Amino acid sequence: MTESKSYHMSPYEFRKQGRAVVDWIADYYENIESYPVLSQVQPGEIRKSLPESPPEQGEPFDAILKDIRDKILPGVTHWQSPNFFAFFPANTSGPSILGELLSAGLGVQGMLWAASPACTELETHVMDWLVDMMELPGTFKSSNTGGGVIQDSASSASLCALIAARERATGYASNERGCDGRLTVYTSNQAHSSIEKGVKIAGIGRENIRLIGVDDTFAMSPEALQAKIREDRQTGKIPCFVSATVGTTSSNAVDPLPDIGRICREEGVWLHVDAAMGGTATLCPEFRYIHEGLEYADSYCFNPHKWMFTNFDCDCFYVADRATLIRALSILPEYLRNKATESGAVIDYRDWQIPLGRRFRSLKLWFVIRYYGIEGLQYHIRRHVELARNFAKWVEESDQFELAAPVPLNLVCFRYVGGDEINQKLMDRLNQTGKLYLTHTSLNDRMTLRFCAGQTYTEVRHVKTAWKLIQETAKALKAEC
Ligand code: PLP
Repeated sequence: MTESKSYHMSPYEFRKQGRAVVDWIADYYENIESYPVLSQVQPGEIRKSLPESPPEQGEPFDAILKDIRDKILPGVTHWQSPNFFAFFPANTSGPSILGELLSAGLGVQGMLWAASPACTELETHVMDWLVDMMELPGTFKSSNTGGGVIQDSASSASLCALIAARERATGYASNERGCDGRLTVYTSNQAHSSIEKGVKIAGIGRENIRLIGVDDTFAMSPEALQAKIREDRQTGKIPCFVSATVGTTSSNAVDPLPDIGRICREEGVWLHVDAAMGGTATLCPEFRYIHEGLEYADSYCFNPHKWMFTNFDCDCFYVADRATLIRALSILPEYLRNKATESGAVIDYRDWQIPLGRRFRSLKLWFVIRYYGIEGLQYHIRRHVELARNFAKWVEESDQFELAAPVPLNLVCFRYVGGDEINQKLMDRLNQTGKLYLTHTSLNDRMTLRFCAGQTYTEVRHVKTAWKLIQETAKALKAEC
């Protein structure tokens, strides 16, 4: 075969275009406040602007980049805008973006230790660092019985925990014969929907999930949990999994882990703790009280891709007993056999997750931790909590608005005093301005606005401007009614 021509990008052009892309991203961040936070396009508008068919011949890179600005950007909701207060954030930072770029550049697929030892060992190391940084239980360390692994999302982490719990509860029989419909799962009626989804995927069956009631702070009632577990046992069910939340999605409520943990121990039920958003706060010692009782947990997860300046996707998942997880998920076909695995001296993270393949995600986390240092991370987390608390104070002081839930961290749930309809209109009108983005939830069956301060670049001035706009818009709406 003779040397044929190449369609590949040369290193020379990669360098040139790579610089252009990095410049583009830097410009984007410099100008981000000029874009409407919530994309204002109509359904189908973006597709309509794209050519019907793919190009037969390759196109110049400049033309592709131009279309990012002209055709794609209008359909982007700017999650990195400092005026993004919706959902929970998915924040990022310079070091994270560059770590991600390096991960793509190395192009490693780290399914086995042998497939790229650094991919596994850096991950183990960073996950151990985080145990110390957040004062998580020592059992979560790789030098102990447990260990940590990076998952794509909290949903995947909960699913892995559920499968491990299912196997432990059935003596590893459900992997062989499937579930017989007797296993039951418990979480609060405020838990994230990913738990219910996990129950469906794990074959436990949605009718076997029990949504436990909450108290007036929206935290799970341990008494109701205990009563339900006992009732289920009496009817021949096998309680296998409790998921407690530290920082619920609707209101940031913190479930009482010490009481829930004790119940799980007594009942021999797996305790998973979902701290997807809230966990990051425990980088600061003054917020570690939210983890009180975590020593009872069999598994735990939090998302650096929400609040820890690490771009999506990055969920840190810990187990107290790695052997159970590995036994539940391990499968070893001939083509993956290798000496390192057989020696027993290495971790193969493929046995700790649903997919086989995995990205080099620890790079971006390592970059973030090294660039900010613990001090830098603590500083910015504290700032976000302070911004939210200030906002909450303004709401409390206003006779036009009310708080709808306590504010333990960086989320403020509030409403305009005037009913669901006007709150819905208020949110819609605010979001149409493009000046900020808020989302809502339902608390005590009432429409509730959520204001979350967690975007990397949000400062006092953004929160002040947002509060002014919220008040003015509410006033205008009231005048129209
Ligand atoms: N758990 C909680 C408490 C959440 O708030 C969320 C998302 O907001 C999730 C789980 C799901 O996160 P992920 O998108 O990482 O699956």
